[in-house]
Amino acid sequence: MKYISTRGAAPTIGFADALLAGLATDGGLYLPEFWPTLPPLDELRGRTYSEVAAKVMWPFVEEDIDRDVFDALVVEAYSVFDDPRVCPVVDLGETASGASHHLVELFHGPTFAFKDVALQLVGRLFDHFLTERGERVCILGATSGDTGSAAIDSVVGRDAIDIFILFPEGRVSEVQRRQMTTVDSPNVHAVAVAGNFDDCQDLVKAAFADEAFRNGVHLSAVNSINWARVMAQIVYYVTAALEVNGAKAPVSFSVPTGNFGNILAGWVAKQMGLPIERLIVASNSNDILTRFFTTGTMEIREVIPTSSPSMDIQISSNLERLLFEVLGRDGRHIAEMLTSFRSSGVTSVEMDALERLGRSFDARRVTENEVAATIRSIHAETNMIIDPHTAVAVRAAIDMPGSSDTPVISLSTAHPAKFPDAVSAALGERPPVPAKLARVFDLPERTTSISNDLTAVKHLILSRI
Ligand SMILES: *Cc1c(COP(=O)(O)O)cnc(C)c1O
Repeated sequence: MKYISTRGAAPTIGFADALLAGLATDGGLYLPEFWPTLPPLDELRGRTYSEVAAKVMWPFVEEDIDRDVFDALVVEAYSVFDDPRVCPVVDLGETASGASHHLVELFHGPTFAFKDVALQLVGRLFDHFLTERGERVCILGATSGDTGSAAIDSVVGRDAIDIFILFPEGRVSEVQRRQMTTVDSPNVHAVAVAGNFDDCQDLVKAAFADEAFRNGVHLSAVNSINWARVMAQIVYYVTAALEVNGAKAPVSFSVPTGNFGNILAGWVAKQMGLPIERLIVASNSNDILTRFFTTGTMEIREVIPTSSPSMDIQISSNLERLLFEVLGRDGRHIAEMLTSFRSSGVTSVEMDALERLGRSFDARRVTENEVAATIRSIHAETNMIIDPHTAVAVRAAIDMPGSSDTPVISLSTAHPAKFPDAVSAALGERPPVPAKLARVFDLPERTTSISNDLTAVKHLILSRI
């Protein structure tokens, strides 16, 4: 399998190069040249998560890695999850139209959010290819919460990788900060920046834009535009459909969406032949995608802080991959469209493209009141506590338009204990904290504080690696 850029002006490369590069040299995102078909579903039924995962992902990686090595990395990545099913499915009752409703729990990894499912594998793939090539990288990222700890946990103790995660001092929750600062490993550097999240992100961008520095320390990124993260996320759409009805009839998915990486993986699963009827793009009050999928016009507004902060986003970077596909894989057109979107804050697609999107996607905005009401109603009906991100998906699924009796699977992207304040505001009770998460409150913190300044970032990295 070779990989092409959505902007059409970067060389075609193999899996390992696309993994290690992240972003293409023309500013585009990598996609496989074609969509392989899933292995026969009969071969997947009754298998473990890791077995299904290795079979589903194999066509994307086969030219770059031995089958035994890949299988072993997959087994290792998912052995750190606290449930042997890795992404278990639970019943949630019925939607308003009477369809059966299920939840696939994606938060059983080491940091209790769905980012672990992809990052635990991606970290190991990075380490494998770097070691094979005798190279090292320095991963630099900014986080407003969940991604930082998931990225750190995916590379802790790896010889070929140093990781520096910048977070805004005093502006991440205590759990989130401690999940980063209590990791005791010489290759992990949690850095508090005197500034806000945008300042952290700007510092990262500035460091990458400094070519001499970037090349000198081999800067790299594991953010959600990395193709390998999308690839690893395809798997749980397959295992969830197999669990609910053997994938013998269509299912629909409702996905709490921010950067569009998670739901894009569902769309890819559909291209590979998984019987998926509808994909519901569930948004919080930041409803740019709801407006886009309804009207064909994408228009940036101010970010509104909500109880589901991992979805407080205006520009969903992975949407670029879907647009490339539905607009006829025309890289030049995508480059023009996204450049003008960045400068003017608005762009549109024609009615025929909107119609093509509508064949797979529905979109729904869920208000803050609805999030709280959904946390309460699910608790009343099932005794389960769901987190605010999950509640966005669950509500969109329950209210799904039409009268289909196709089963609906909502994606549960975080453990409720990661968002205790929002849960207790809705329920009047705090969610129980798993022992592993509670432990971070007893461990010593290791943090470096720096000023909001590129020189300080560069100095810190050079002094540590
Ligand atoms: C990252 C994240 C999301 C959004 O996923 P995208 O792939 O960015 O659409 C939803 N919920 C939680 C808890 C997250 O951490």
